[in-house]
Amino acid sequence: MSVWDKLQAILPYVEKPARYIGNEINSVAKAQEEVQLRFALAFPDVYEIGFSYMGFQILYEIINSIPWAQAERVFAPWPDMEAKLREHKIPLYGLETKTGLNAFDIIGFTLQYELGYTNLLNMLDLAGLSPHARERTGFPLIIAGGPGALNPEPLADFIDAFVLGEGEEIVTEIAETVAEAKKQGWGKDKTLKLLAAIPGIYVPKFYAPAYDAQGSYIGIKPLGSFPAPKKRIVRDFASYPLPQKLVVPLVQPVHDRVSIEICRGCARGCRFCQAGMLYRPVRERPMAQLAEQGRMLLQNTGSSEISLSSLSSADYSKIEELVQTLMASGDTSVSLPSLRVDSYSVELAKLTRAVRKTGLTLAPEAGSQRLRNVINKNVREEDIFSAARAAFENGWDSLKLYFMLGLPTETDEDIEDIVNMVRGLEQLYREINGNNRRLKMTVAVSTFVPKAHTPFQWAAFLGRKDVERRQRLLLDKLRLPKFKVQTMDWKESKLEALLARGDRKTGRAIFLAWQKGCRFDAWTEHFRPQLWAESFAQAGVDVAVALGEIPLTAALPWDHIDIGVSKDYLIKESGRAKGAAGTPDCTLDRCSDCGVCAAFAVTPLKRKGKSVCD
Ligand code: SF4
Repeated sequence: MSVWDKLQAILPYVEKPARYIGNEINSVAKAQEEVQLRFALAFPDVYEIGFSYMGFQILYEIINSIPWAQAERVFAPWPDMEAKLREHKIPLYGLETKTGLNAFDIIGFTLQYELGYTNLLNMLDLAGLSPHARERTGFPLIIAGGPGALNPEPLADFIDAFVLGEGEEIVTEIAETVAEAKKQGWGKDKTLKLLAAIPGIYVPKFYAPAYDAQGSYIGIKPLGSFPAPKKRIVRDFASYPLPQKLVVPLVQPVHDRVSIEICRGCARGCRFCQAGMLYRPVRERPMAQLAEQGRMLLQNTGSSEISLSSLSSADYSKIEELVQTLMASGDTSVSLPSLRVDSYSVELAKLTRAVRKTGLTLAPEAGSQRLRNVINKNVREEDIFSAARAAFENGWDSLKLYFMLGLPTETDEDIEDIVNMVRGLEQLYREINGNNRRLKMTVAVSTFVPKAHTPFQWAAFLGRKDVERRQRLLLDKLRLPKFKVQTMDWKESKLEALLARGDRKTGRAIFLAWQKGCRFDAWTEHFRPQLWAESFAQAGVDVAVALGEIPLTAALPWDHIDIGVSKDYLIKESGRAKGAAGTPDCTLDRCSDCGVCAAFAVTPLKRKGKSVCD
């Protein structure tokens, strides 16, 4: 009985069966006799979350453009489907050909957020594979990439090889190496040694961490001669065109629109932002390429909405021209998912048609100017109010504001300033519109989590008492029907903080938590903090120390991973944060010597305009 036959018997009994059947428009299933290499692209969360991740579609198209390779997709099955798969002994499978994952040559996970790590172990188990790399003697090789791979140590016991940085070039090199290994009959160890020689690949089994007598991490050493693990980037960004045939989902994804990446990297230098450091240097796609490929994508998918994605869309040099070109056909709407906080962005949003459906979203991140200076969010009070004025004068009644709570040096006064800002914006709306009856303001407050490779990587994660007291302060002072305050569960943020700065001991806790039944930790209804607490204790992780401030001199579990941004720069930025000193955006102003341009021999991008730091 084939996997598909077995599936037909169980799918009527699970929620959203369309998550598990594949066969979407633009999905690729090649004639199997032509396929020499099977490459599963695995996302450790459910279909509609993973589908919104653009990197997946890019790699899918690149791998499938190799005549002898087949890329398939696999997402984490929801617990009802997991139970059915286990009950009927069906291995987790690729959506395209329904082949069990254990028959693939490579399974490549993307690590977009830490709370998917137990799902990764669960997916390996459902595939009939041991979660531990040392217990898997042959193929498939388990690789992992994405931002999580740049602090790989928490998953070092489970992953055979990490891809550091951008995957467009390296994915073909991996496919060719593994295809050759299969042809030559090389074993796993020899293949991993060859992979470790490829720049941008880190094979954790060839590195041994060291701990002192107290059990504190003191560094890591290579067990042979391997190139230092360094991030790969695509220097000639435009030479990797956008995917032309996006797979059209069967279940509505969280971001249901065609998305094109207009630029990569961000030089604004927010000190809490990991993406801002990891994806440097800034590179832009040429306008003509975006206009042409955007048009083709809409044609190939039947969609009428296109999202211009980047870490800060309004910073793209020719953003206005691009929006106007894409909308010239008259039936396309454009959305800008990451707007700056200024009136220019609102003017830009006015040009689009999509944004009015959802309201305008701005991210001041902190309520007071002092704290915005500390985090290097170069936004002034007048920028926020002029953006809101432009929005309200142009008919927006709905505004969503993002803030972070628990930032380094934060006090209750900074929280009071969030309240003052929100009330001031309400007052502004009233002045413009005569009343505030239609106004809806959402204040979304996340909890700051210190992340690897950022100037705040040494900062403490704020304790529960303080976070919850400050959350209550906001909730109490903004308790009016027109304000909706959304806060994060501190316990979930705490787990994220532990995993984000973890080492191999943290990996033991992940394994224990998975064994105890933890899955879908990013989903509040499935999150089980008690099981995690037990797992960290059994793994010997001192949670209080792990969440506390780290001395600048301490060895960090990700120090050996070179992302191009130097540790000296991060230390300097951490010092400037303490003095609330700003650092300008280097695409508009002087270079602040983060090191990345020299590390990758790239010419820094310069944009016209004036930095708001001036
Ligand atoms: S090296 Fe200078 S110009 Fe290049 S990204 Fe860093 S700060 Fe910007």
